[in-house]
Amino acid sequence: MGWTVVQRYPYEPLGVHVTNEETVTCQFRKVELSNDFGTSEAMLMFYSQHGRCARCDGPMDDWARHEACKPGPRRFRSIQAPDLEVAMPSAVYVSGGALRGKEGQLRAAFLRQQRTKAVSGSRTRAEVRTLLDLQEQRCYYCFASLVGPGGSVNAPGEPTTCHEDHYVSLRWGGSHSISNIVLACVDCNSRKRDMHGDDFAQECLEAATRAVRKGLLRIHQARAAHFSRLVAVDDPSVSAGETGTP
Ligand SMILES: [Zn+2]
Ligand SMILES: [Zn+2]
Repeated sequence: MGWTVVQRYPYEPLGVHVTNEETVTCQFRKVELSNDFGTSEAMLMFYSQHGRCARCDGPMDDWARHEACKPGPRRFRSIQAPDLEVAMPSAVYVSGGALRGKEGQLRAAFLRQQRTKAVSGSRTRAEVRTLLDLQEQRCYYCFASLVGPGGSVNAPGEPTTCHEDHYVSLRWGGSHSISNIVLACVDCNSRKRDMHGDDFAQECLEAATRAVRKGLLRIHQARAAHFSRLVAVDDPSVSAGETGTP
């Protein structure tokens, strides 16, 4: 029997539980999506074709027909109740692993993009250039040189050696403005993930040798001094006398 998905949205998988050794139940929650991330249709098709309603045991060819199958309100409001639950044999669920993995990636990219859009601030090339000089063309966290084999930083055609790191990550409300950017080697940037820059810098400082620590403290100070100057000039509440001092 050929099933068609009439309800593409607004359902997203919320969680999964194995009801017995043979059956997996996926919880779906209603969401408001203004955008899609590509394979949702394919994934929902998969659930629709291979699953059945965990409540009424009926086919999921028309999700709207299962309105009555939604569980009642939860005792604790902080726990989000799923709207619908779809059950399927675990072997079938496992067979959709690649599809789910792809869905997860696209969804993460979509959410990241949404976050980025909402964030304020921007930086110019010149500002980044200045930052690079303040940091002596070295990683803010490990002091490794950011200069590539060709003698410059991130030259076209050369492997990337320098990333712009959001000191306070976008996830925690950091902005795109230059005062929230430090330049880091690819390795440090990927290790830092969503950590606060203060915490990661401290961690790296503690792990550093004496010579490296000296260099790190120097570039930390240079950056801090630079941005405190910028703030003093930009901030109209600061008196003229104060901005005049070097
Ligand atoms: Zn049902
Ligand atoms: Zn580094």
